[in-house]
Amino acid sequence: MKTVHTTLLVIGGGPGGYVAAIRAGQLGVPTMLVEGDRLGGTCLNIGCIPSKALIHVAAEFEKASHFAGGSPIGIRASAPTIDLAQAHRWKQGVVGKLTGGVGMLLKKNGVQVVKGFARIVDGKSVDVEPRDGEPMRITCDHLLLATGSEAVALPNLPFGGSVISSTEALDLDPKPAHLVVVGAGYIGLELGIAWRKLGVDVHVVEATERILPAYDEELTRPVMATLKKLGVVLHLACTAEGLSANGDGLRVRSRNADEYVLPADKVLVAVGRRPRTAGFNLESLQLDMAGRAVKVDEQCRTSMRNVWAIGDITGEPMLAHRAMAQGEVVAEVIAGHRHRFAPAAIPAVCFTDPEVVTVGQTAAEAGPDIVTAMFPFAANGRALSVEGSEGFVRVVARKDNHLILGWQAVGQGVSELGAAFCYSIEMGARLEDVGGIIHAHPTLGEAVQECALRALGRAVHI
Ligand code: FAD
Ligand code: NAD
Repeated sequence: MKTVHTTLLVIGGGPGGYVAAIRAGQLGVPTMLVEGDRLGGTCLNIGCIPSKALIHVAAEFEKASHFAGGSPIGIRASAPTIDLAQAHRWKQGVVGKLTGGVGMLLKKNGVQVVKGFARIVDGKSVDVEPRDGEPMRITCDHLLLATGSEAVALPNLPFGGSVISSTEALDLDPKPAHLVVVGAGYIGLELGIAWRKLGVDVHVVEATERILPAYDEELTRPVMATLKKLGVVLHLACTAEGLSANGDGLRVRSRNADEYVLPADKVLVAVGRRPRTAGFNLESLQLDMAGRAVKVDEQCRTSMRNVWAIGDITGEPMLAHRAMAQGEVVAEVIAGHRHRFAPAAIPAVCFTDPEVVTVGQTAAEAGPDIVTAMFPFAANGRALSVEGSEGFVRVVARKDNHLILGWQAVGQGVSELGAAFCYSIEMGARLEDVGGIIHAHPTLGEAVQECALRALGRAVHI
């Protein structure tokens, strides 16, 4: 077996690993990256990007269907059809452009990519059986773990056959007549809404009493309204018990112990993801863990010297932008820079209809000494003029000095407001700062400004 040496060895080419490798390459650190599947990881291949592309297809199809029914803005069209195979090809084209771009950027920055599954030997060496080449041992000065996460399976509904994870749910063709989604979190609602818009009968089974239980109820109310309008049937406070005897239905138990069967060609289990820590001899390093995740400090160092970890393997929040930011930190620290991962806030967006975005603290999290205000999109000219008047922007600030602590919003296109929310918190803005900035008219951003003004008791347009 040949042995090669590098300064930084990254295991995993997802957003955490590829960003760390590119940044390390930019800084002149000799870097190798081992990827067992496809560059881009979960996010680019089977997560963020294809799901958002599918959500776009579904939204366009629904819009066209809406016009066929006679729309308030006067557009009439005949009932649309969808060529699902073409839609999936387009989606894969988007994925291909981005993953191809990642490969080029790694190459441009001098990162050597090894395509193969890595198995840890010790904290400084890893064995790989490359897909095209001889088995090799890579030794390194720094080992970076960026192996991501995997879908959690339910013991009574193991993946296989009609029981699918988000990966298969992105590529359904033909579309099922009846899709039952288990879990009304990010994946369940993003994909459940998309398939409903594409004409599938969708039921959602959720263990808690609410959809998106990670968000407060006021924020999820407009999403509830859309689910009702679209005809997504919710089974809240219910548990999935297993497939029915003949396999074409899901047995569901409600809180009062009634059991019933929902017809299901496919059952999408979306009850969370867990760090990918097994199957590559990681346990041999005996790293300190935080539950199922690898425990890291503010510089993403694990408990073993020069072994680092970033992204989903380090636990919640399992979001691509967090993984990327951690990747940059590790590359810079290894290159000798002073840096740490200590964001004031990490934005979270749920790409439901309408979208939900949260940055920083909610009123409940911030405690008693706060001011909070909400500004509805029903009073925003832009929202009204693009038929998106549901939802609102909400701000949370300290009562004494008006320092902004958090923003929440729900509405059409609010994911893009996340940047403004983050800037204000990272830059230590006060309500007066945001309220005093001229925002272009007519834009959704004016609702952000008005929300800050309302918290100061002087909103103009409400
Ligand atoms: P990953 O992207 O999972 O990459 C890890 C890589 O490591 C994989 O390519 C894997 O093949 C490789 N690997 C693992 N073990 C080995 C080994 N032993 N040897 C070699 N290679 C190995 N996040 C958002 O921020 N926004 C979204 O809109 C969003 N949507 C999502 C939608 C879905 C359906 C899913 C499933 C997830 C979504 N996420 C979203 C979460 C996001 O995908 C993850 O947070 C992100 O991919 C984590 O990046 P990572 O680099 O830690 O791991
Ligand atoms: P999630 O944690 O968002 O939601 C899981 C849901 O399943 C929760 O509502 C939970 O109460 C419910 N649940 C748990 N066990 C259950 C059971 N036995 N029966 C019924 N319901 C049950 O998890 P997810 O939707 O699988 O997504 C996983 C992760 O992927 C997210 O936490 C997020 O980090 C990431 N993700 C992010 C985005 C985004 O940023 N837009 C999109 C998709 C996924």
